[in-house]
Amino acid sequence: MKYCSNCGTPVELRIPEGDTLPRYVCSACSVIHYQNPKIVVGCIPEWEDRILLCRRAIEPHHGLWTLPAGFMENAETLVQGAARETLEEANARVEMGALYAIYNVPHINQVHILFRAQLLDLDFKPGIESLDVQLFGEAEIPWETLAFRVIREPLKRYFEERRQGKFEFHMGTIEEAGK
Ligand SMILES: [Zn+2]
Repeated sequence: MKYCSNCGTPVELRIPEGDTLPRYVCSACSVIHYQNPKIVVGCIPEWEDRILLCRRAIEPHHGLWTLPAGFMENAETLVQGAARETLEEANARVEMGALYAIYNVPHINQVHILFRAQLLDLDFKPGIESLDVQLFGEAEIPWETLAFRVIREPLKRYFEERRQGKFEFHMGTIEEAGK
């Protein structure tokens, strides 16, 4: 951040009195611009023994496969956000099921939240942010061309648990690559 969004004056990075972390502080209007993690919400849309994946038409990782997910908007709930992203990216209607996983991704200041979901019909097609949308059985999952570790890890767990016949909520952390 370079300029105060309140008054346009250049901001300085310093620890405000009584605080413990550096913040962007406006020297003119004294507003402290707190920066906090963003929530990414999505789902694993299921149809019988297959799940729906989207091939990304946008960066990062253009051309790779991912679950429908995206940044939560103001004034919506988690379930609404996951359903909205699924509609936007795959034109797919789902009934949201159980909360399945929360992944901390501290090095990029994100928290990813995934639900299981039931596809309501097969009338899906790529949204503007997707090149393709397809159903995949476990043997067909394009593990080598999945876009994000934060997608790969819950999907591995998902199929392991499906084989065992029992899904359980999981919270994990994706560390920076190489750590
Ligand atoms: Zn200001």
